[in-house]
This record gives sequence, C-alpha cells and structure tokens, in this order.
Amino acid sequence: MKLMVAACGAAGAVACAAIVGLLVLVPVVMSGGAASGQSPDAVADIPADLLPLYLRAAETCGMPWEVLAAVGKVETDHGRSTLPGVHSGTNSAGAAGPMQFLAATWTTYGRDGDGDGTRDLYSPADAIVGAAAYLCANGAGEPERVRGALWHYNHDASYVDAVLEVAASYAAVVGTGRAYRHPLPSLSSGAPPAPHHDYPALDLPAPVGTTAVAVTSGTVLRAATSSGACGGTVVLLGDDGHRYTYCHASGVFVVAGEQVVAGQPLLLTGGRPGTPGAGRSTGPHLHLAIYVAGVAVCPQQLVQQWAQGIPADPAVAPRDGCTT
Ligand SMILES: [Zn+2]
Repeated sequence: MKLMVAACGAAGAVACAAIVGLLVLVPVVMSGGAASGQSPDAVADIPADLLPLYLRAAETCGMPWEVLAAVGKVETDHGRSTLPGVHSGTNSAGAAGPMQFLAATWTTYGRDGDGDGTRDLYSPADAIVGAAAYLCANGAGEPERVRGALWHYNHDASYVDAVLEVAASYAAVVGTGRAYRHPLPSLSSGAPPAPHHDYPALDLPAPVGTTAVAVTSGTVLRAATSSGACGGTVVLLGDDGHRYTYCHASGVFVVAGEQVVAGQPLLLTGGRPGTPGAGRSTGPHLHLAIYVAGVAVCPQQLVQQWAQGIPADPAVAPRDGCTT
C-alpha cells in the first residue's frame, strides 16, 4: 500500500492508483484459485456494465482484457472509489477518472468510447477505451510487452506486479458447473489430437463444411469471412475469461458482439487451399487456439476431456509440450 502512495508521485507517471489500501482486496480476490476448481468470483468483482467495456476495448490491439480490467481495479476499484479525482476534479497527482488519466495523456489518448460526441475522462465508456489505446500504443497487444506497457501507465514495478496479480485472478476464474464442448461434436472421438506444427494450438482434420461449435458460452469478439492467415475467423471470449480463436472457416454463423452458449454453431470448417476463408491452410481442418491471460495453451488434452464430458478449464492446461 505504501508503494501505491509512492506511485502517485512518480515522475512521468501517466496515472496513479487512487486508492491507498486497495490492494488489501487482492487476497480476497485470489482466494480459491484455478486448480482447486472453486470460483474466486473475480469476474463478479467487475461491475456488470464495465465488463463488456473492458472486453471490447482490449480488442483494440488484442491485449488481454483481464490486464485492462486489472488496471481499472487497481486504479479506482472500477470507479467505485470516492476519493478525489475519481468522479470529479483531480487527485494530488493530477489524475482523474476511473482509469486515472493525467490531463496531458488524455489529450492524446482520450476517446469517445460510447459515441456520444464527447471525450469524457470521468466516463468509464470513454476512459476504458482511452486506457486501452494508451496501453496498446505501448505494446500491450504483444504478450512479451504487457509488463512494459503497464510500466508506461505507471512507472512503478510494484504497480505492475499488483496489476498482473489481479489480472491473473481475473483470468483464472473457474466457473463451477461451466460447460465445455468439443469444437467438432460430429467428429469427437477418444483419440488424442495431434500436436500442432508451431505454437500451442490444435489442427483438427475435418471435411469442408463440418459444423464447429462454441466450446463454451461467451461473447463473439470478432467474426470475419476472411482475415489473413487465419482466413474465416471467429474469436470467442468465453465467460471463463479465456479467448478462443477458430480459423479457416468456409462460412460463419455469428457476428461480433453476439452472445453464444456452449455447443452453439459458430462456423463451417474449410481450409482447402484456394477456397474462400481458407487463409493459409494446407488442407481441410479446423484450427483452434486457446489463450489464457493472452498466452496460448495446449488444447489437445482439453478437447479430449470435453469430448468425455469433463469440464476442464483451460486455466489448468499446459503451455508447452504440444508442438512438433
Ligand atoms: Zn493450425
């Protein structure tokens, strides 16, 4: 907590944690834990109207949404703080609003997130999008640069650690009773899927036109009939906080922003070279990548367990050992 006071006076700091003592909340958030199978209710800590704002704003550059949300937590307890500078005026360090912007930084990175024609740094809808813009400008879209981006936000290593600790708790939510489905129900067998050829991901051979479903409930972040190497793309932000990227779709059933349930059809597989949506694919298959806190994990064992009705959460999946 003392460190947060120091952070408020840090020269060059973009923002500053307004709530001295806020970090005492972290151990509560951290209780439970992913491996235990109990929900620490971390996502329940985020106000329901702010969660979609964090999710969408993080998409600015594909940064982990939980890191952005954790900034909101550490700065002002998601705007719940009643300290000076959160809802009006500035604090002693000149920071203002739920994301604690300095006026000069807001001039550059302030955004009209809700499209009401004004850039209001006290409005979460604007401030969260602005914070994402600032973090993205400093590299938060690349996993290895997240720390550095946070340091730009507030030049204090303890601040960075505190944000990442909260982010981990948000990402590791294990919903009790959460449902998971094999992505290709018609083809799910007990056979262990093959390792992936480069990074942790999964290539499931499938005839063109096979229905692929949402592996869990969530929100469609992105749906495109063709996008780069991925081709026909669906990105799903699971209600578990993890991100699921499906590639090489020959047809897409959903649109960005749509809420889906586990097992709901998302797309038809493709991947035959030269066909619409194939992207950079060498043959018919579904490519599925799963990201926990922005890091790709191994889907192989997960999809086997899901096919068997075991609701294994990706938070407990290994991060290596599944590439060739
Ligand atoms: Zn692949």
